[in-house]
Amino acid sequence: MHSREREELFININPLQTAGRTRAAVRKAVTRYVDGYSVCDACTGILHDIEKPPIKSLTRELAEFLNVDEARTTAGAREAKFMVMHSECRPGDILVLDGNAHYSTHVAASRAGLETVEVPAGPPPFFKITADAYAQTLAEVKARTGKPAALALLTHVDGDYGNLTNAAAIAAVCREAEVPLLLNTAYTTGRMPVDVRALGADFVACSGHKSWGACGPIGVVGAIGEHAAHLFRLDQRFPKKNIELLGCTARGSNIMSLMEALPLVKQRIKRWEEELENARWFAARMEHIGKGGIKLLGDNPTNHDLMRFATPLFHEIGQRQRKKGYFLHKELTDRGITGLKPGQTQWFKMSTYGLSRSQVEYLAQAFEEIAAL
Ligand SMILES: *Cc1c(COP(=O)(O)O)cnc(C)c1O
Repeated sequence: MHSREREELFININPLQTAGRTRAAVRKAVTRYVDGYSVCDACTGILHDIEKPPIKSLTRELAEFLNVDEARTTAGAREAKFMVMHSECRPGDILVLDGNAHYSTHVAASRAGLETVEVPAGPPPFFKITADAYAQTLAEVKARTGKPAALALLTHVDGDYGNLTNAAAIAAVCREAEVPLLLNTAYTTGRMPVDVRALGADFVACSGHKSWGACGPIGVVGAIGEHAAHLFRLDQRFPKKNIELLGCTARGSNIMSLMEALPLVKQRIKRWEEELENARWFAARMEHIGKGGIKLLGDNPTNHDLMRFATPLFHEIGQRQRKKGYFLHKELTDRGITGLKPGQTQWFKMSTYGLSRSQVEYLAQAFEEIAAL
Protein backbone atom coordinates (compact mmCIF):
# COMPACT_ATOMS: atom_id res chain seq x y z
CA MET A 1 0.00 0.00 0.00
CA HIS A 2 1.40 3.41 -0.91
CA SER A 3 1.53 5.85 1.97
CA ARG A 4 -0.87 8.29 0.31
CA GLU A 5 -3.43 5.49 -0.08
CA ARG A 6 -2.93 4.63 3.57
CA GLU A 7 -3.68 8.20 4.61
CA GLU A 8 -6.50 8.88 2.19
CA LEU A 9 -8.40 5.58 2.13
CA PHE A 10 -7.90 4.29 5.68
CA ILE A 11 -8.03 5.33 9.28
CA ASN A 12 -4.36 4.92 10.19
CA ILE A 13 -3.62 4.14 13.84
CA ASN A 14 0.12 3.39 13.56
CA PRO A 15 1.64 5.49 16.38
CA LEU A 16 4.84 6.07 14.40
CA GLN A 17 2.79 7.66 11.65
CA THR A 18 -0.22 9.55 12.99
CA ALA A 19 1.54 12.85 13.73
CA GLY A 20 3.92 12.62 10.78
CA ARG A 21 1.33 12.69 8.05
CA THR A 22 1.70 15.78 5.92
CA ARG A 23 -0.90 18.28 4.80
CA ALA A 24 -1.11 19.25 1.13
CA ALA A 25 0.82 22.53 1.56
CA VAL A 26 3.78 20.60 2.95
CA ARG A 27 3.75 18.20 0.03
CA LYS A 28 3.65 21.13 -2.39
CA ALA A 29 6.61 22.84 -0.67
CA VAL A 30 8.60 19.62 -1.00
CA THR A 31 8.04 19.42 -4.74
CA ARG A 32 9.12 23.07 -5.19
CA TYR A 33 12.46 22.30 -3.53
CA VAL A 34 13.04 18.83 -4.89
CA ASP A 35 16.16 19.58 -6.96
CA GLY A 36 19.39 18.72 -5.19
CA TYR A 37 20.67 22.28 -5.16
CA SER A 38 17.46 24.20 -4.47
CA VAL A 39 18.23 25.22 -0.88
CA CYS A 40 22.05 25.38 -1.07
CA ASP A 41 21.78 27.63 -4.13
CA ALA A 42 20.53 30.40 -1.80
CA CYS A 43 23.32 29.96 0.75
CA THR A 44 26.09 32.48 1.35
CA GLY A 45 27.92 30.35 3.89
CA ILE A 46 25.49 29.71 6.75
CA LEU A 47 22.39 27.61 6.19
CA HIS A 48 20.56 29.18 9.13
CA ASP A 49 21.19 32.69 7.85
CA ILE A 50 19.43 32.20 4.51
CA GLU A 51 16.76 34.88 4.21
CA LYS A 52 15.16 33.69 0.99
CA PRO A 53 13.64 31.15 1.51
CA PRO A 54 13.22 32.38 5.13
CA ILE A 55 15.33 29.78 6.94
CA LYS A 56 16.76 32.50 9.19
CA SER A 57 13.36 33.44 10.55
CA LEU A 58 12.32 29.77 10.75
CA THR A 59 15.34 29.15 12.98
CA ARG A 60 14.36 32.04 15.25
CA GLU A 61 10.75 30.89 15.27
CA LEU A 62 11.77 27.37 16.28
CA ALA A 63 13.74 28.72 19.25
CA GLU A 64 10.76 30.85 20.32
CA PHE A 65 8.32 28.00 19.81
CA LEU A 66 10.35 25.65 22.04
CA ASN A 67 11.35 28.48 24.40
CA VAL A 68 15.09 27.90 24.15
CA ASP A 69 17.86 30.42 23.45
CA GLU A 70 19.09 28.81 20.23
CA ALA A 71 17.70 26.14 17.94
CA ARG A 72 18.86 24.52 14.71
CA THR A 73 17.44 21.91 12.42
CA THR A 74 19.02 18.46 12.29
CA ALA A 75 18.29 15.32 10.27
CA GLY A 76 16.18 13.92 13.11
CA ALA A 77 15.86 13.49 16.86
CA ARG A 78 18.71 10.98 16.95
CA GLU A 79 21.14 13.38 15.25
CA ALA A 80 20.08 16.03 17.77
CA LYS A 81 20.77 13.66 20.66
CA PHE A 82 24.12 12.57 19.24
CA MET A 83 25.16 16.20 18.74
CA VAL A 84 24.45 17.05 22.36
CA MET A 85 26.18 13.91 23.67
CA HIS A 86 29.20 14.51 21.46
CA SER A 87 29.43 18.15 22.49
CA GLU A 88 28.87 17.70 26.24
CA CYS A 89 30.76 14.48 26.91
CA ARG A 90 34.11 12.81 26.32
CA PRO A 91 34.41 9.12 25.45
CA GLY A 92 34.07 7.04 28.61
CA ASP A 93 31.82 9.63 30.31
CA ILE A 94 28.55 8.53 31.85
CA LEU A 95 25.12 9.26 30.38
CA VAL A 96 22.20 8.64 32.75
CA LEU A 97 19.01 7.79 30.86
CA ASP A 98 15.56 6.39 31.54
CA GLY A 99 14.71 2.69 31.23
CA ASN A 100 12.10 3.50 28.57
CA ALA A 101 14.61 5.26 26.29
CA HIS A 102 14.44 4.70 22.52
CA TYR A 103 17.00 2.48 20.81
CA SER A 104 18.32 5.53 18.92
CA THR A 105 19.30 7.11 22.25
CA HIS A 106 21.38 4.04 23.08
CA VAL A 107 22.93 3.94 19.60
CA ALA A 108 23.78 7.65 19.76
CA ALA A 109 25.45 7.05 23.13
CA SER A 110 27.45 4.16 21.68
CA ARG A 111 28.59 6.35 18.79
CA ALA A 112 29.70 9.02 21.26
CA GLY A 113 31.61 6.35 23.24
CA LEU A 114 29.58 6.86 26.42
CA GLU A 115 28.85 4.50 29.27
CA THR A 116 25.09 4.43 29.86
CA VAL A 117 23.47 3.98 33.27
CA GLU A 118 19.73 3.37 33.24
CA VAL A 119 17.18 4.80 35.62
CA PRO A 120 14.91 1.77 36.00
CA ALA A 121 11.26 2.05 35.09
CA GLY A 122 8.76 1.09 37.78
CA PRO A 123 6.91 -2.24 37.79
CA PRO A 124 4.19 -3.32 35.34
CA PRO A 125 1.54 -2.40 34.36
CA PHE A 126 2.61 1.28 34.68
CA PHE A 127 6.38 1.25 33.87
CA LYS A 128 6.67 4.67 35.44
CA ILE A 129 9.86 6.75 35.39
CA THR A 130 10.12 8.90 38.51
CA ALA A 131 12.19 11.82 39.80
CA ASP A 132 13.09 9.77 42.88
CA ALA A 133 14.56 7.05 40.68
CA TYR A 134 16.60 9.70 38.78
CA ALA A 135 17.87 11.13 42.07
CA GLN A 136 18.93 7.68 43.24
CA THR A 137 20.71 6.74 39.99
CA LEU A 138 22.50 10.11 39.80
CA ALA A 139 23.64 9.68 43.42
CA GLU A 140 24.88 6.14 42.71
CA VAL A 141 26.92 7.33 39.73
CA LYS A 142 28.47 10.09 41.80
CA ALA A 143 29.28 7.70 44.66
CA ARG A 144 30.89 5.22 42.28
CA THR A 145 32.93 7.66 40.16
CA GLY A 146 33.43 10.57 42.53
CA LYS A 147 31.88 13.08 40.15
CA PRO A 148 28.47 13.87 38.63
CA ALA A 149 27.42 12.11 35.42
CA ALA A 150 28.36 14.11 32.32
CA LEU A 151 24.80 14.26 30.98
CA ALA A 152 21.29 13.04 31.74
CA LEU A 153 18.65 12.27 29.15
CA LEU A 154 14.92 11.93 29.70
CA THR A 155 12.49 10.51 27.16
CA HIS A 156 9.64 13.00 27.64
CA VAL A 157 7.05 10.54 26.32
CA ASP A 158 8.35 7.10 25.39
CA GLY A 159 7.41 5.08 22.34
CA ASP A 160 6.59 1.86 24.23
CA TYR A 161 3.86 2.98 26.63
CA GLY A 162 3.23 6.63 25.76
CA ASN A 163 4.04 7.54 29.38
CA LEU A 164 4.33 11.26 30.04
CA THR A 165 7.16 11.81 32.52
CA ASN A 166 7.30 14.62 35.05
CA ALA A 167 10.07 16.47 33.21
CA ALA A 168 9.98 19.49 35.54
CA ALA A 169 10.56 17.34 38.64
CA ILE A 170 13.29 15.32 36.93
CA ALA A 171 14.97 18.49 35.63
CA ALA A 172 15.00 19.86 39.19
CA VAL A 173 16.70 16.67 40.40
CA CYS A 174 19.32 16.92 37.63
CA ARG A 175 19.97 20.58 38.42
CA GLU A 176 20.47 19.69 42.09
CA ALA A 177 22.97 16.99 41.02
CA GLU A 178 24.69 19.48 38.65
CA VAL A 179 24.03 17.32 35.61
CA PRO A 180 22.74 18.98 32.41
CA LEU A 181 19.51 17.46 31.06
CA LEU A 182 18.63 16.64 27.47
CA LEU A 183 14.89 16.19 26.91
CA ASN A 184 13.99 13.86 24.07
CA THR A 185 10.65 15.13 22.82
CA ALA A 186 10.28 12.91 19.74
CA TYR A 187 6.70 12.13 20.89
CA THR A 188 5.77 15.51 22.43
CA THR A 189 6.91 18.69 20.67
CA GLY A 190 4.78 19.15 17.56
CA ARG A 191 1.85 17.31 19.18
CA MET A 192 1.42 19.04 22.53
CA PRO A 193 2.61 22.31 24.09
CA VAL A 194 6.16 22.00 25.48
CA ASP A 195 8.02 24.89 27.13
CA VAL A 196 11.60 23.69 27.52
CA ARG A 197 12.73 26.62 29.70
CA ALA A 198 9.76 26.28 32.03
CA LEU A 199 10.42 22.55 32.39
CA GLY A 200 14.04 23.32 33.33
CA ALA A 201 15.82 21.18 30.73
CA ASP A 202 19.08 22.42 29.17
CA PHE A 203 18.73 20.76 25.77
CA VAL A 204 15.85 19.52 23.65
CA ALA A 205 15.69 17.08 20.73
CA CYS A 206 12.65 16.94 18.41
CA SER A 207 11.54 14.76 15.51
CA GLY A 208 9.92 16.61 12.59
CA HIS A 209 8.84 13.53 10.66
CA LYS A 210 7.51 11.80 13.80
CA SER A 211 5.52 14.58 15.43
CA TRP A 212 5.48 17.79 13.37
CA GLY A 213 3.80 16.63 10.16
CA ALA A 214 6.94 17.27 8.09
CA CYS A 215 8.24 15.01 5.34
CA GLY A 216 11.73 14.92 6.76
CA PRO A 217 14.02 13.45 7.59
CA ILE A 218 14.18 16.44 9.87
CA GLY A 219 14.61 17.23 13.54
CA VAL A 220 15.33 20.18 15.79
CA VAL A 221 17.92 20.64 18.50
CA GLY A 222 17.65 23.45 21.04
CA ALA A 223 19.73 24.63 23.96
CA ILE A 224 19.61 27.19 26.76
CA GLY A 225 22.18 29.65 28.15
CA GLU A 226 25.86 28.75 28.09
CA HIS A 227 24.91 25.29 26.88
CA ALA A 228 23.71 26.92 23.66
CA ALA A 229 26.96 28.83 23.21
CA HIS A 230 28.99 25.65 23.60
CA LEU A 231 26.74 23.42 21.47
CA PHE A 232 26.68 25.90 18.59
CA ARG A 233 30.38 26.89 18.75
CA LEU A 234 32.15 27.72 15.50
CA ASP A 235 35.19 26.29 13.79
CA GLN A 236 38.44 28.27 14.11
CA ARG A 237 39.57 27.86 10.55
CA PHE A 238 36.09 28.26 9.06
CA PRO A 239 34.50 30.76 11.44
CA LYS A 240 31.08 30.66 9.75
CA LYS A 241 30.84 26.93 10.22
CA ASN A 242 29.26 25.27 13.18
CA ILE A 243 31.31 22.30 14.41
CA GLU A 244 28.62 20.02 15.82
CA LEU A 245 26.38 20.67 12.81
CA LEU A 246 29.34 19.86 10.52
CA GLY A 247 28.72 23.25 8.94
CA CYS A 248 25.11 22.62 8.01
CA THR A 249 22.44 19.95 8.40
CA ALA A 250 19.02 19.62 6.72
CA ARG A 251 19.57 21.48 3.46
CA GLY A 252 16.88 20.36 1.04
CA SER A 253 13.15 19.81 0.75
CA ASN A 254 13.23 18.46 4.32
CA ILE A 255 13.80 21.88 5.90
CA MET A 256 11.22 23.42 3.54
CA SER A 257 8.67 20.85 4.67
CA LEU A 258 9.28 21.81 8.30
CA MET A 259 8.87 25.50 7.42
CA GLU A 260 5.51 24.75 5.84
CA ALA A 261 4.44 22.44 8.68
CA LEU A 262 5.19 24.84 11.55
CA PRO A 263 2.07 27.07 11.24
CA LEU A 264 -0.16 23.99 11.44
CA VAL A 265 1.81 22.61 14.38
CA LYS A 266 1.30 25.90 16.24
CA GLN A 267 -2.45 25.53 15.73
CA ARG A 268 -2.78 21.86 16.43
CA ILE A 269 -1.00 21.85 19.79
CA LYS A 270 -3.85 24.04 21.06
CA ARG A 271 -6.15 21.05 20.55
CA TRP A 272 -4.06 18.77 22.74
CA GLU A 273 -6.77 18.53 25.43
CA GLU A 274 -9.20 17.24 22.79
CA GLU A 275 -6.62 14.72 21.61
CA LEU A 276 -6.23 13.52 25.19
CA GLU A 277 -9.98 13.27 25.70
CA ASN A 278 -10.27 11.17 22.54
CA ALA A 279 -7.47 8.85 23.64
CA ARG A 280 -8.87 8.49 27.17
CA TRP A 281 -12.38 7.88 25.93
CA PHE A 282 -11.08 5.23 23.53
CA ALA A 283 -8.93 3.47 26.14
CA ALA A 284 -11.79 3.32 28.63
CA ARG A 285 -14.05 1.95 25.89
CA MET A 286 -11.48 -0.73 24.96
CA GLU A 287 -11.12 -1.87 28.57
CA HIS A 288 -14.93 -2.01 28.82
CA ILE A 289 -15.22 -4.02 25.59
CA GLY A 290 -12.50 -6.44 26.71
CA LYS A 291 -14.06 -7.28 30.10
CA GLY A 292 -10.59 -7.95 31.50
CA GLY A 293 -9.20 -9.32 28.21
CA ILE A 294 -7.98 -5.90 27.04
CA LYS A 295 -5.84 -3.79 29.33
CA LEU A 296 -4.18 -0.41 28.86
CA LEU A 297 -0.51 -0.52 29.92
CA GLY A 298 1.47 2.50 31.11
CA ASP A 299 -0.22 5.64 32.50
CA ASN A 300 -3.89 4.94 33.17
CA PRO A 301 -5.72 7.16 32.39
CA THR A 302 -3.35 7.78 29.54
CA ASN A 303 -1.59 11.14 29.10
CA HIS A 304 -0.80 10.66 25.40
CA ASP A 305 -2.32 9.48 22.14
CA LEU A 306 0.14 6.55 21.91
CA MET A 307 -1.42 3.66 23.80
CA ARG A 308 -0.24 0.13 24.40
CA PHE A 309 -2.83 -2.50 25.11
CA ALA A 310 -2.32 -6.03 26.38
CA THR A 311 -4.95 -7.98 24.44
CA PRO A 312 -5.18 -11.63 25.55
CA LEU A 313 -8.79 -11.52 24.33
CA PHE A 314 -7.73 -11.04 20.71
CA HIS A 315 -5.09 -13.71 21.07
CA GLU A 316 -7.73 -16.14 22.29
CA ILE A 317 -10.12 -15.25 19.45
CA GLY A 318 -7.27 -15.77 16.98
CA GLN A 319 -6.91 -19.38 18.08
CA ARG A 320 -10.45 -20.02 16.78
CA GLN A 321 -9.98 -18.13 13.50
CA ARG A 322 -8.88 -19.57 10.18
CA LYS A 323 -6.31 -16.79 9.76
CA LYS A 324 -5.06 -17.33 13.36
CA GLY A 325 -3.05 -14.36 14.58
CA TYR A 326 -3.57 -12.52 11.31
CA PHE A 327 -7.34 -12.25 11.82
CA LEU A 328 -7.14 -8.97 13.74
CA HIS A 329 -5.26 -7.19 10.99
CA LYS A 330 -7.66 -8.58 8.38
CA GLU A 331 -10.80 -7.66 10.31
CA LEU A 332 -9.51 -4.13 10.81
CA THR A 333 -8.51 -3.79 7.16
CA ASP A 334 -11.99 -4.95 6.12
CA ARG A 335 -13.32 -2.05 8.19
CA GLY A 336 -10.97 0.52 6.64
CA ILE A 337 -8.54 0.61 9.56
CA THR A 338 -4.80 0.12 9.15
CA GLY A 339 -1.62 0.51 11.18
CA LEU A 340 -1.38 -2.55 13.45
CA LYS A 341 1.36 -5.07 12.85
CA PRO A 342 0.02 -8.11 10.95
CA GLY A 343 0.08 -11.28 13.04
CA GLN A 344 0.30 -9.53 16.38
CA THR A 345 -2.53 -10.22 18.85
CA GLN A 346 -1.03 -10.52 22.36
CA TRP A 347 -0.56 -6.79 22.57
CA PHE A 348 -0.37 -3.79 20.27
CA LYS A 349 0.47 -0.10 20.18
CA MET A 350 -1.77 2.41 18.47
CA SER A 351 -2.56 6.10 18.35
CA THR A 352 -5.73 8.14 17.97
CA TYR A 353 -3.83 11.32 17.06
CA GLY A 354 -5.63 13.61 14.63
CA LEU A 355 -8.81 11.54 14.48
CA SER A 356 -12.19 13.19 14.96
CA ARG A 357 -14.41 11.98 17.79
CA SER A 358 -16.66 10.22 15.30
CA GLN A 359 -13.65 8.40 13.80
CA VAL A 360 -12.58 7.35 17.29
CA GLU A 361 -16.13 6.10 17.94
CA TYR A 362 -16.03 4.17 14.67
CA LEU A 363 -12.72 2.66 15.74
CA ALA A 364 -14.14 1.56 19.09
CA GLN A 365 -17.16 0.06 17.32
CA ALA A 366 -14.88 -1.91 15.01
CA PHE A 367 -12.93 -3.35 17.96
CA GLU A 368 -16.23 -4.13 19.70
CA GLU A 369 -17.43 -6.12 16.67
CA ILE A 370 -14.10 -7.96 16.43
CA ALA A 371 -14.17 -8.75 20.17
CA ALA A 372 -17.54 -10.46 19.63
CA LEU A 373 -16.20 -12.86 16.96
C1 LIG B 1 11.01 7.88 16.86
C2 LIG B 1 11.79 8.19 18.06
C3 LIG B 1 13.09 8.69 17.95
C4 LIG B 1 13.81 8.82 16.62
O1 LIG B 1 13.42 9.95 15.95
P1 LIG B 1 14.20 10.36 14.61
O2 LIG B 1 13.74 11.76 14.37
O3 LIG B 1 13.73 9.43 13.54
O4 LIG B 1 15.64 10.23 14.86
C5 LIG B 1 13.76 9.03 19.10
N1 LIG B 1 13.20 8.89 20.30
C6 LIG B 1 11.96 8.41 20.46
C7 LIG B 1 11.39 8.29 21.84
C8 LIG B 1 11.22 8.04 19.35
O5 LIG B 1 10.00 7.54 19.52
